[in-house]
Amino acid sequence: MTTIVFDKTGTITEGKPKVTDFINISGDSEQYILGLTSSAEFSSEHFLAKTIVAYALAHDIKPMKIDSFNAITGHGIIAEIEGNNVLVGNRAWLEESGIQLNILIEQAETFAKQGKTPVFASVNGEAVALFGIADQPRSNAKNAIARLRNMGVTPLMVTGDTEQTALYVAQQVGIDAVIASAKPERKLEIIRELQAQGKKVGMIGDGINDAPAIAAADVSFAIGTGTDIAIETADLTLVSGDISKVADVMELSDATLRIIKQNLFWALGYNTIAIPVAAMGKLNPMIASAAMAFSSISVVLNSLRLQRK
Ligand SMILES: [Mg+2]
Repeated sequence: MTTIVFDKTGTITEGKPKVTDFINISGDSEQYILGLTSSAEFSSEHFLAKTIVAYALAHDIKPMKIDSFNAITGHGIIAEIEGNNVLVGNRAWLEESGIQLNILIEQAETFAKQGKTPVFASVNGEAVALFGIADQPRSNAKNAIARLRNMGVTPLMVTGDTEQTALYVAQQVGIDAVIASAKPERKLEIIRELQAQGKKVGMIGDGINDAPAIAAADVSFAIGTGTDIAIETADLTLVSGDISKVADVMELSDATLRIIKQNLFWALGYNTIAIPVAAMGKLNPMIASAAMAFSSISVVLNSLRLQRK
């Protein structure tokens, strides 16, 4: 394998967005603001709301009693909690409600450059907090990619996501070749183009749209938590989603090939020397049979070394 094509979402990243940043600009404690905003989000079905609730629970915040709750699709929510009017949502929702976001806007723009989704919150008409929510790279992704590079494999990331988000994730994990805003069929085209250049191409992905590329690649890997079609099409499934296993597999296959070559050398070596000597009648049959046995034993012992991998 000389090149490996990575899908982004769910392959390099966990595929589960999380709160990565929480900025509190109110005069109140983080606990209190997080309590109000997460309680307001508690009844929302929106995936961004769920990440805020999960973040609050992870920080031991107990939900507060909600007196009223209303979700405005595509905008956010409004809730009454212990006499406070709480708004959580996107910029448009808070600005339309007459909230001055001021300094939070600049921070939200930085988040956007990092592929993070900003979520604003206000309490009683005052902007109080900003959340940054993003799908984070898997903890071992950077290490896995560094190991593959050391083995002479060039990584390439292909994603349907925007260039900004794609580049930010790629930079975090050490990939410098990125194709963003790719249509689903583009992944397959890229595999074919690389193969046409004489490259041995690996593909690793988790989604339905990765399956054609997985099928066309010379070696393919699916993420164990991915879609059934990706798993069924791939040569190998990374059960725990540990992408550093790709490097392990390459090391093991290199070692296997090396040992096959050594075995061939030793098995043929004994015979190419011993057979002509025996044919000349100059080989003691006792030594000949011992040599025969040793050739088999050396091959078996040499192969058993693979168990240590
Ligand atoms: Mg994916």
